[in-house]
Amino acid sequence: MRASGATQAGFNSSHERRAWVCGRTCATTVSDEHGTSNPDVLATVSDIDVIEDDWNGLDSLVLLGTYRDGTITLYREQIRDVATANDVPVCQLIEATLAHELGHCLVDLSEIDSPQTQRWRNVAESFLGIDSRPKAIHEAAANGFCFALLESRFETSPLFDCPEILSSPSD
Ligand SMILES: [Zn+2]
Repeated sequence: MRASGATQAGFNSSHERRAWVCGRTCATTVSDEHGTSNPDVLATVSDIDVIEDDWNGLDSLVLLGTYRDGTITLYREQIRDVATANDVPVCQLIEATLAHELGHCLVDLSEIDSPQTQRWRNVAESFLGIDSRPKAIHEAAANGFCFALLESRFETSPLFDCPEILSSPSD
């Protein structure tokens, strides 16, 4: 399989690995369903708005994109800076950021839990109003989704060797 870097993305747990696979499976399903792996088109058919913003971050915080309330925001200035610092073509990092955020909204992580775990998770989340999954799990799923799409779009990309740029761009 191409993108060996992306597939060996330094998982800290088997849960992260399962989340990554779950993200990949979702990307394949969604792109088969809509006949495209273009993240712009997939956002449109999923009723997700994509906007751009020029906010250029805080000293210690770099954000390439965010997903909130049905809208993905791409932070162009920060994407450009991170792309330059890592020798990644800007257009590839823009597309990857969009695909990663799309992963955050489309991947259903309940599939990686046993039914019993999912029941307890539902109880905790509805009573406590919290997200009971660690951030690393969400990031692994979003990156699994993202790289499954990108591998079908880019012949090569330096991103395939540094998938962590998308989940922790300031490191
Ligand atoms: Zn993320």
